[in-house]
This record gives sequence, C-alpha cells and structure tokens, in this order.
Amino acid sequence: MTQLMNLKHYRFLTAILGVVIFVSTNASGATKPKNIILMISDGQGFNTVQATEYYTGQPAPFRNFPVKLAASTFSASNDAKNNPLGYDPDKAWQSFSYVKNNPTDSAAAATALNTGVKTFNGQINMGTDGKPLTTLAQFATEKDKSTGAVTSVMFFHATPAGVAAHNKSRNNTVQISREMIYESDLDVIMGAGHPLYNGNGQAAANPNFGIFGGEDTWKDITDADGANGFTFIDKKDDFRKLANGEMPLPKKVLGIARVDSTLQSSRTRGTGKTVEPETMNTNVPTLEMMSLGALRVLNQNSNGFYLMIEGGAVDWANHGNNLPRMIEEQIDFHNTVQAVIDWVNKFSNWDETLLIVTADHETGHLWGAKDRFAPLEFKGEGNLPGHAYNSGGHTNALVPLYAIGSGSEVFDRLIIGTDLVRGKYVDNTDIFRVMHHALGYPLVGRTKAAQTTTQATTCPEPAAVN
Ligand SMILES: [Zn+2]
Repeated sequence: MTQLMNLKHYRFLTAILGVVIFVSTNASGATKPKNIILMISDGQGFNTVQATEYYTGQPAPFRNFPVKLAASTFSASNDAKNNPLGYDPDKAWQSFSYVKNNPTDSAAAATALNTGVKTFNGQINMGTDGKPLTTLAQFATEKDKSTGAVTSVMFFHATPAGVAAHNKSRNNTVQISREMIYESDLDVIMGAGHPLYNGNGQAAANPNFGIFGGEDTWKDITDADGANGFTFIDKKDDFRKLANGEMPLPKKVLGIARVDSTLQSSRTRGTGKTVEPETMNTNVPTLEMMSLGALRVLNQNSNGFYLMIEGGAVDWANHGNNLPRMIEEQIDFHNTVQAVIDWVNKFSNWDETLLIVTADHETGHLWGAKDRFAPLEFKGEGNLPGHAYNSGGHTNALVPLYAIGSGSEVFDRLIIGTDLVRGKYVDNTDIFRVMHHALGYPLVGRTKAAQTTTQATTCPEPAAVN
C-alpha cells in the first residue's frame, strides 16, 4: 500500500514539476531477488494439477505458495473481432466451447512469458511487426547473471527455445538450436532431442542429425573441445553426478539425454492405460535430476541467475488424451518443483530467490464429463480419477499461477480481474513484467489492456493498479 501511495504521490509531483525522472519501485522498499526460477508445465490446466493430486493423494508442492492466482494465455492470433478481451471470464463459463476459440500455442506463450509481448502463434520472440524482441535472459545477461533452460522434451522445442532464440517459426529447429548453442548467452541447456537414440532410449536405427543443424554441428558439440564453451553430457550417470555435486562443476553445460523427443512420454513400452513407472526408460535422467545439476552450475555466479524449467510432455499426453501418461509427467514436474524448493531452502533463501510455477496454456479441456463443467471424480489414491477430455488441442482457459519469494508480491498489483471460478487473475505478459522488474528494471506498463503487442523496455508509467 505504501508503495502504491508513493507511486501516486510521485506521479502527482512529476505532473506538477514537469520533471521526468523515474523512481524504481525497488527504491520504495520492494525487494529484488538474485535468482529467478520460472517453472512451466506445458499444457497444465487446473484439472491437470487436480487429477495428479487425486492419483497421488498428495497436494502439489506449490499449493501453499503465498501467491495463488490464475493467468490468461491468449496470443495475438486470438480472434480479436469475436473475442476482443482475449479472455472474457463471463463468456468462459457461459459457453463450454468458448476457451477452444483460437487458443495460443507454446511459441507465442513462451514469447509472452519471456518478453512481455503478445505475438502470433508459431513465432519465437518475434513481435507482430516481425522484429526480434529482447528476452528476459538477455536482460538477465545485462545484469551479469547466468541463464539456463531445462526441459523434458527437445531442448530446441518451443518453450525452451523461448528462453533464448528468435525465429519467425518454431519449426526452424536447426536455426533455433544453433542460435541457442552458438549465439545466445545461455550457460545451461538441457533436454531431450538426442539424434542417436529412439523414444525408448535405444540406439536409433537411423541417426537424426538434421535437427541439430547437421552432422557437423553434432560433431562439434560432442568433440573434445565442445562447442562455444559448453561441456557436453548425455549419460544418465553424468547428469546424476552433476546433480549430486560429484564432478567438477563446468562453467557451461549442454546436456542431451539419450532419448529422441521426450524423456518418457513417447516410449512404446507399457500399455499407456495406467500409470506404469516400471516401464519407464531407465537410461535417462529425470527432470528433477537435470534441474538440480543446472542449479549447481548456474549458482556459481555470485550475481545470480535466471533458469527456466519446463515439464514439456504434459502437453503431449494431453494432446493424446492420455491421462495416465499425463499424470506420470505431472508427477515428474511436482517432484522437480519440490526439489527446487528444497534446493532454495538449502543453498539459497526466499529473500534472494523468486520462484514462479505456471503453465503456458491448458491442453485437452480436461473435465469430469463430456461437454460440461463437471468436477473430476475422485476414485481413491492410486486410481485414475473419473474424467473426460473435451479437446485434442490447446485452450485459452486460465492456467494456475503460483509464486513465492522475493519480488512475488508484485503480482498483487497486476490483477486484471476476478474469474467466476478461478478467482483473481493476471495475464501471461505480467509474468514477464514481474521477472523483468525483479532484475532491477522499472515495471513496464501494459498497452491496450493486456494485449501488449509492442515491447516497452523503459516505461516511466507505473503499472495500472487494481
Ligand atoms: Zn501443445
């Protein structure tokens, strides 16, 4: 409250004096974290979390975070004529199909989260004007912080690409992986996407070098002197040693698990009809193991870091309307969030670390019944809840947003409105605004309500409050 009054007072003063100077809200007492960790479960809606909690009998580890909100996710590809608000909380609950109207994809959502700008589906950190946008990782580099991207799917897939790449199409994976490895300032890149292994973690019949920009790039990454200063790892045991601090810490790590597209979700073993950890690939790290290794590497920088961690295959399982595989993936994500919380408690603290847990969009329009807003049906711990998928694609439904630590209190000032069911919500571009502000920059303003399609890097106007 004091901050808000200070800001109003400041605006009043500048209006009178005609003086154009900006006073950062940090100057009025808000804390500024050293480390920023953004965790994204791709395709996670409220019922993704609930279904997993029903199965495990355990609340998700972020449930007790002090900031509990929802976030809108629509992109600039949204049908503005029929849907001028992007997300209209009244319409969302009047019509079951409303949120299926022109949903965002992961590329536009990653752009919103990493640049604060709404762009067209398919674009990675390029504005609607076709110009490249400055990413949070680039802003973090300006503040001498280390940066990293970790995912359970291919490291050049849309969400991790959104941390560092700039491309008009998420499908240009050759250009994207080369930009991430050779042209960005990333210190840690980890994920799946190994050209020599299949989805079951076995040697592939035909190596798929193309995705890395060809065999030459692959050779450069894996030869003795590495590529662009990256130490390359791909063995599970090396991921484990890195996570446990049992190897000398490299300055930069490029870790590609020995599996093609995703750690577990694309394996052909098992029925896919139940949660079946006994059929999982055993030669790959978990998302938790990769993340702990990434944290060790990044924490070598006394100025701190920005790390994005993605559970990438919840989306894939939801596209396939495969609830057990989705629950497996979401359990891996929950385990990773818990491990990050434990890491902060052990090696850092909440005065110097900001942790945000959210999704880029919902996938599957998962409810308890077909064509209506029915709750999931609890059938006992260890049993799949009664459920129905109502889409094989994405939706614009609000997604969960949880935050804890230094700087997370800023979300309270960015509330757009109150949803009938999900409560107070912000926009996905506000997640960038909070993280960008947490780096020590002034809070950038919103233009045209939440439909921010141009980037403001310096904005003397404090954010709209209410
Ligand atoms: Zn998807």
